[in-house]
Amino acid sequence: MSTVEVKMFSLVCDGCGVDANEDTDFVAYMQEFASREIATDNGWLLAEDGKDWCPECCEWDENGDELKPRDTVLLAASQKEDQ
Ligand SMILES: [Zn+2]
Repeated sequence: MSTVEVKMFSLVCDGCGVDANEDTDFVAYMQEFASREIATDNGWLLAEDGKDWCPECCEWDENGDELKPRDTVLLAASQKEDQ
C-alpha cells in the first residue's frame, strides 16, 4: 500500500477560533456530518446562517428558549468581517 492523503473535517468557532476537537482524543472526522454531530453533542451551536459557535461563545436565550451566540461575540465577529 502506498501512502495516501485523506480529507478530514473539523469545526472552528466563528467567534473565538477554537477547534471543536482541541481537547478531545480526535483530530478530525472522516465525514463532515460526523464532525458536526459530535460538535452539537458537545454544546456547539451550528447556526442556520452557516456559522458555528463554540459553547464559550454562546448563551441561553430565555426568550427564544434556544442557544444563541453572545451579543459581544457577534459584534466582534461582524467587526472582523468589515475589515
Ligand atoms: Zn468560540
